[in-house]
Amino acid sequence: MSQIDDLPPLRAVIETHGIAAKKNLGQNFLLDLNLTAKIARKAGDLTGCDVLEIGPGPGGLTRGLLAEGARRVLAIEKDERCLPALAEIAAKYPDRLDIISGDALQINPLDHLTPPIRICANLPYNIGTELLVRWLTPVVWPPVWTSLTLMFQREVAQRITATASSKAYGRLAILSQWRTDAQIVMDLPPEAFSPPPKVSSAVVHLTALPAPRYPANPETLSRVVAAGFNQRRKMLRSSLKGLSPEIEAHLIAADIKPTDRAEQIDLERFCALARSLDAAK
Ligand code: SAM
Repeated sequence: MSQIDDLPPLRAVIETHGIAAKKNLGQNFLLDLNLTAKIARKAGDLTGCDVLEIGPGPGGLTRGLLAEGARRVLAIEKDERCLPALAEIAAKYPDRLDIISGDALQINPLDHLTPPIRICANLPYNIGTELLVRWLTPVVWPPVWTSLTLMFQREVAQRITATASSKAYGRLAILSQWRTDAQIVMDLPPEAFSPPPKVSSAVVHLTALPAPRYPANPETLSRVVAAGFNQRRKMLRSSLKGLSPEIEAHLIAADIKPTDRAEQIDLERFCALARSLDAAK
């Protein structure tokens, strides 16, 4: 195994700075720097890119991103115990690592980065899907970022890449595949982390498409799929009835049978339904 940098090993960093993993912060750390460099490579060519990382923790992935040539990494970390360890990395890579101490749900630093921007993170499981949905649903598309390379529980990764009629198909598949190409690029067993989580994990790489596959308003599409899959066993005419008194007519206009269930409907028809609802406003 080669060393990716001459900073101390992650186990020593964690011990020196007293960063015992906390469950409520979703802390499952990656300790193998060769693995974090491999994940960083899955984000694509980082040379000349600004990278946003959420939840750097003791900095394993951060070091991978910097070693793989990121022009600049901006990392947002909620746990203040990690800040001294991250400051040591910043000192080793002058002018290339900025740390924001705070909650990633309250801060949107994307406007302060210079494109091309890639987002790469081993996300805390409790805010991962919320962040993903935010990155996928800005009003203006294409977004400021070029790609997202994100670690999720494997079951969530499967929901992002699922096809219509499969068990995992739902809101995340639709919103992801509407505006990006999404692929699982790496599987990781629980033992890759410290402490090991109960479930396997996977890295998903999403590349922003230049334009959505079908036109639709992101807010309307989000509402339609949230309502449709919230009661996935119900027929759409009843799960979506709160969206419009004429829901049956809108379903038919979108080539959807009112008795169909959400999981039977592909992305193209969900977008047509969102357009029909908006046209009637
Ligand atoms: N990137 C590190 C790694 O791969 O070893 C740590 C990943 S760990 C799964 C998730 C990290 O996100 C933790 O460091 C945790 O403190 C941080 N975190 C949790 N909630 C957060 C939030 N709301 N905003 C920013 N960071 C958060």
